[in-house]
Amino acid sequence: MNKENTKRILGYKCVGCGEEYPFEPFIYQCPKCKSNLDVQYNYELIKEIWSVDDLKQFPYQSLWRYHPLLPVENPPENLSMRSGGTPLISFPNLLTDIGKINLYIKDDTRNPSGSLKDRATEVGIRHADELGKNTIVAASTGNAAASLAALAAYYEKKAVILAPASAPPAKLTQILQYGAILYMVDGTYDDAFDLSILVAEANGWYSRSTGINPVLAEGKKTVGLEIAEQLNWQVPNKIFVPTGDGCIIAGIYKAFLDLVRLGWISKLPQLIAVQAEGSPAIVNALNSGKPMVPVQSKTIADSISVDLPRDGEKAIQAVQKTKGFGITVSDDEILVAQHRLARNTGVFTEPAAAAAFAGFLKAMKRGTIHAGDSIVILASGTGLKDVPAAQEKIEIPKAQPKTLEGFLTFYNKNKQK
Ligand SMILES: *Cc1c(COP(=O)(O)O)cnc(C)c1O
Ligand SMILES: [Zn+2]
Repeated sequence: MNKENTKRILGYKCVGCGEEYPFEPFIYQCPKCKSNLDVQYNYELIKEIWSVDDLKQFPYQSLWRYHPLLPVENPPENLSMRSGGTPLISFPNLLTDIGKINLYIKDDTRNPSGSLKDRATEVGIRHADELGKNTIVAASTGNAAASLAALAAYYEKKAVILAPASAPPAKLTQILQYGAILYMVDGTYDDAFDLSILVAEANGWYSRSTGINPVLAEGKKTVGLEIAEQLNWQVPNKIFVPTGDGCIIAGIYKAFLDLVRLGWISKLPQLIAVQAEGSPAIVNALNSGKPMVPVQSKTIADSISVDLPRDGEKAIQAVQKTKGFGITVSDDEILVAQHRLARNTGVFTEPAAAAAFAGFLKAMKRGTIHAGDSIVILASGTGLKDVPAAQEKIEIPKAQPKTLEGFLTFYNKNKQK
């Protein structure tokens, strides 16, 4: 590493026992207690070399605009693929049952492979490159894999994917289109995850597995940095985050902490972890105040279907330290919210992302949202990734007569929808 980077990135700190490790050589988890690691930066130095004005002059709307807060030496040379840099779509003074609120949809469906996972992959691949690794392995229910396959194709790396047999066909199709090697695991996501660790170790490959690789959360945190920048450093009241392993919500927490440490903002938004009723391990722990216990998961929202959240401890901290809360939503609430979100905002999401909106609707009913609040909903993945799920709440019309009369009858019956 060059000198400036050596000083900018201090190393890793274990979230379990607090032990600190240097940035090089790279390790995934704490050798002592097997907990996850958190990247540590020298904020005093970053303050000296980087400012809001530098950011204003950076011409690219990609996550690499935040490179000083990312754990790699240099950004890639070609930034045209553009992971991150997604719009924050606003609905100012939206009139709701509880009064006017400022609603924002962070539209991460617009990443290269259609989900927020591209943020983690983008930084992970760059990191792998700097470590001289050409093959990258990931376990995934679909999005992390599709993301790795896509960006590996762009950056000329080799992607090896381990997916549980339950992954939606659209995502598997996407993975294969991008030309990755796909190993279907006869088991759950958790089984695929465990196997991916063995495979990475045995072959000396880079592991793009959420929940063990500390670099990935740094990539995911860029969504939080972007939200803050897009709101001109005015922190929103609440961010609703669809939560599976907990890496995204932990990353967003880190983003806002980074910005407080740089002195660019002075308070934290409340982070709301939204989970499916059928995959509630983090919310259970938050509500009971007891340690997390695995739950056998079952939900239509495959991207947040996890038995034991791999970043659960960090996610729980993110919620507690920001005075947020956890909330669960049923599959039916998710599917209703998916259609309502698309119909009312023009953002078509997959069920996991719709869960965030469902959580917001439920919180509003429960009285936890107040008039005047500014609320961000994280739309983490596109609806085209799971078309059968999206067909649950709509009906494709039958063919009608090819006459004007036929059309008018149909139109008059359906125009109020
Ligand atoms: C992975 C994923 C999530 C959940 O992220 P975690 O870091 O596992 O909590 C939510 N939505 C989508 C679309 C995802 O792909
Ligand atoms: Zn430790």
